[in-house]
Amino acid sequence: MFWPILTFLALAGGLGIAWIAWCQARRSQWELTRLRAELSDLRSDREQADHEGRAQQKALLDGMAEGILVLDAQQRVRLVNRVLREWFELGPDTQGKTPMEILRRHELGDMISNAASQGAAQEIELEIQGAAPRVLQVNACVYCGAQGDRQGTVVVFHDVTRLKRLENLRQEFVANVSHELRTPLSLIAGCVETLIHGAQQDPVAADRFLRMIQKHTERLTFLIEDILTLSQLESGRTLFHHQAIELRGAADRLLEDFRLRSDARLIEFQNAVPAGLRARADAQRFSQVLINLLDNAIKYGRPDGRIEVGARRAGPQWIELWVKDNGPGIPVHAVERIFERFYRVDRSRSREQDGTGLGLSIVKHIVQAHGGKAWAASEPGRGATFFFTLPAAEP
Ligand code: ADP
Repeated sequence: MFWPILTFLALAGGLGIAWIAWCQARRSQWELTRLRAELSDLRSDREQADHEGRAQQKALLDGMAEGILVLDAQQRVRLVNRVLREWFELGPDTQGKTPMEILRRHELGDMISNAASQGAAQEIELEIQGAAPRVLQVNACVYCGAQGDRQGTVVVFHDVTRLKRLENLRQEFVANVSHELRTPLSLIAGCVETLIHGAQQDPVAADRFLRMIQKHTERLTFLIEDILTLSQLESGRTLFHHQAIELRGAADRLLEDFRLRSDARLIEFQNAVPAGLRARADAQRFSQVLINLLDNAIKYGRPDGRIEVGARRAGPQWIELWVKDNGPGIPVHAVERIFERFYRVDRSRSREQDGTGLGLSIVKHIVQAHGGKAWAASEPGRGATFFFTLPAAEP
């Protein structure tokens, strides 16, 4: 009786223990599966975040106006942005190559090596040729990891073409202005010296030298006035008071102001502007344009010649005006350059006529400030015509 009960209890106990072990094994299995699922979720979240981070970084770099090149610690290309690809006309297979292999510029290679070896930022200027030649300012610096270990180099390329061009123009302008100022100043100094050394004893000679001083002082004044006008126009800060101008009446009044000079040279004026045509412009600046063009037509046209001021409607929005003379005209090679600052076809002729070389440049700037354009046409030997457009007052 005792043994069967004991055997039964032992069996039941064994079964219970087996059941508990099985249950625990199942639970561990579930736990493992759950943990695996959580891990996989975490991994895909991270991958997603990495992917988004990379996409954001790419969008940021590709949206930049600067060219960017990122190199790893072995100075192999890790990243090139869109702008740099365009500037250097790079293909898609840049990853892992050296900067020299893709950009083919020794000075860049040297600069990157210096940045890496010295650990200090480097800067050079680089000119690139091709469809759109550019001047680039290139900066390279190394970047470090959390422990301060060097991880690679970042090279940034700034396009300074426009700045360089402006700088060259400014230098050229300063050189031209200095040259233009020096001529009358040295002539004035010469006259003063001659007067001091005796010429003032002779009233006729003294009068001649004083008149020369007066003439060159006037020339200096014209030059300085023109330089100031031009720099004011170029600054873009000139205020324009736009109003409707009746063009025929305005041309009549200006031609009248030139009457003395035209009569002295037996020049015939013709006002071919149709009555009632109205442009929208700043009256004072408009007069300045016509004065400069009429002044030139008298100076460079021929004596006994003819000067015409004309205008016509050029579409619903614009009016085209012109000043035409029948003088010697402008040589073909000069027509394109005639509106440049200090450009003259015949330097001594311009000086003789008190020209500053800035009259047409001022014309161009005033017209452009009204949204119009100015140009010249000439048949050498048969005269020159200067055209410009202004907005019509009533479209
Ligand atoms: P300038 O003060 O020398 O007259 P402008 O800018 O007004 O300067 O003109 C530039 C040059 O264009 C002049 O020096 C002259 O050589 C030429 N030019 C201008 N107008 C005429 C014209 N009507 N006929 C021939 N040449 C002209």
